[in-house]
Amino acid sequence: MAMSDTASTAPLSLARCSINTATLGHNLPIEEVIELVARAGFGGIAPWRRDLEGRDAAAIGRRIREAGLDVSGYCRSTYFPAATAEQFRANVADNRRAIDEAAALGAPCFVLVVGSLPEGGRDLASARAQVAEGIALLLDHARASGVALALEPLHPMYAGDRSCVTSLPEALALCEALDPEGRGGINTVIDVYHLWWDWRLAGDIRRAGEEGRIGAFHVCDWLVPTTDLLLDRGMMGDGVIDVRGIRAEVEQAGYRGFVETEIFSRHWWSRPAAEVLETCARRLVELC
Ligand code: ZN
Repeated sequence: MAMSDTASTAPLSLARCSINTATLGHNLPIEEVIELVARAGFGGIAPWRRDLEGRDAAAIGRRIREAGLDVSGYCRSTYFPAATAEQFRANVADNRRAIDEAAALGAPCFVLVVGSLPEGGRDLASARAQVAEGIALLLDHARASGVALALEPLHPMYAGDRSCVTSLPEALALCEALDPEGRGGINTVIDVYHLWWDWRLAGDIRRAGEEGRIGAFHVCDWLVPTTDLLLDRGMMGDGVIDVRGIRAEVEQAGYRGFVETEIFSRHWWSRPAAEVLETCARRLVELC
């Protein structure tokens, strides 16, 4: 029986782990979340745009660094595809502002969840073309801002609404098309929740590494059964994903960045934040 070679994977230290604030359900003000994440021993945090509403991104960035944390990423883009040209331009403009926030925050990347069919639409090819065009309109600005656009392929169950980019090869192809010379400024997010099932994954991760396109690594677990398409992600160890095995592949591919926990879950959102963070910390160290 073939086993993946994970024995050589170095144990994960919490200093290399980051908490995506969605994991805590956005129930608390970001200032409090920063303190809790730092106190729980993590090395990084990935805020969402909604966390920064009414705040100064640079001030929050300073506060994060003063707490001893790094920013692992900034979530996430407004969907690109639109039913009208005017709305498309507004979506791109909104993402341009978000890149500025990411830069002020000190985030290395801005996560692109690209969207899919506009309401009532059926033209997936057009949605994909709008995504490519929208990213192309932002790439130079992202480069000048020192923020990479981190394209996150989602599980195909979201192809109708959240993302028309549903596999790592598709995301890599888009990176290649938009940045054929490999100047950078665009890479991918490898999120185990979206990609774990794909028979091509090990080879795709190797290729993503060779092409210098792994910008972030997100972890959680896939519960069996999954009862909600969006809000039933599992805590690492509660489902069927070989998180440690995938981490080994990502690191063998050269990735040295944060292991970011991102759990959208009604269950975990109903628990006290300190308990969620403590559980994340334990599972990361013991199982990931
Ligand atoms: Zn993710």
